[in-house]
Amino acid sequence: MKMKKVLLSLAVAFGLCAGTAMAKDLTIGMSIDDLRLERWQKDRDIFVNKAESLGAKVFVQSANGNDQTQVSQIENMINRGVDVLVIIPFNGEALSNVIAEAKREGIKVLAYDRLINNADLDFYVSFDNEKVGELQAESIVAVKPEGNYFLMGGSPVDNNAKLFRKGQMKVLQPLIDSGKIKVVGDQWVDSWLAEKALQIMENALTANKNNIDAVVASNDATAGGAIQALSAQGLAGKVAISGQDADLAGIKRIVAGSQTMTVYKPIKALADKAAEIAVELGKNEKVEQNAVLNNGMKDVPAYLLSPIAVNKANIDDTIIKDGFHSKEAVYQ
Ligand code: BGC
Repeated sequence: MKMKKVLLSLAVAFGLCAGTAMAKDLTIGMSIDDLRLERWQKDRDIFVNKAESLGAKVFVQSANGNDQTQVSQIENMINRGVDVLVIIPFNGEALSNVIAEAKREGIKVLAYDRLINNADLDFYVSFDNEKVGELQAESIVAVKPEGNYFLMGGSPVDNNAKLFRKGQMKVLQPLIDSGKIKVVGDQWVDSWLAEKALQIMENALTANKNNIDAVVASNDATAGGAIQALSAQGLAGKVAISGQDADLAGIKRIVAGSQTMTVYKPIKALADKAAEIAVELGKNEKVEQNAVLNNGMKDVPAYLLSPIAVNKANIDDTIIKDGFHSKEAVYQ
């Protein structure tokens, strides 16, 4: 009897029961930088739904914008024995060690939306983030081809924030060189927080005696903070300002005229794709790629989706058509 039990557990341990009720489910640990921001809640919900529909179990944790919390949450997932880690890093520079630990345990690692530098990643899935920056700058230049520009970068430890800036500068640099555009300030917003963006914008307006024509803000949360400061000076709607994420609040500001544009990134396409990739990685299957990004340690195979510029003219044909927000919610 005892022997039978031992044999059974050995069989389970060596996976001989695969295909029976005893087969182990694929488990995914999803570590999210910060669920306090609207967009990441969408990412989580869609990802979990899709992964579950593909037969995986998902554990989700949010680090609320804290390095240490994220590292210990990932360690916890490693200890739980997940098969795949899907990580949206707070600090793209701070996860090399914990990822090395995961790899020693044979866990597959997928960087989601933001690249993780100097780490042994298996795959990266995101939007074309340089293109996001280009769309932001192009839309602002279209309405303010000349004048004083304030640049508001995202979180300095988010690799995407650097890519957005790279794309923005592709468009702006020739106009700066020709003297059409003058950059009157350049600041990065810690943790992408709206209240920090508000303070930065207040200080920039004071320093420039309100003489600012355009703000190249990198997402809707920071644009929202900056617009609050502009509004206090009676400048909302007069100063062109970009955003990103098609947050409901951002879209409503576009309708009201205080924000010029946003960049819509169909989160469903990203989260569905990421869930498929996570399951493929977990099953050691081949993953389709359309790009490669070097993260300082290796060339990471990647799949990048296309972002879409949205202004007042195409809200209906993009985010409403896709059901990203309802017509009632946007125009009520
Ligand atoms: C994402 C943006 C988001 C920002 C703040 C970036 O890495 O790509 O969509 O607005 O983080 O969470």
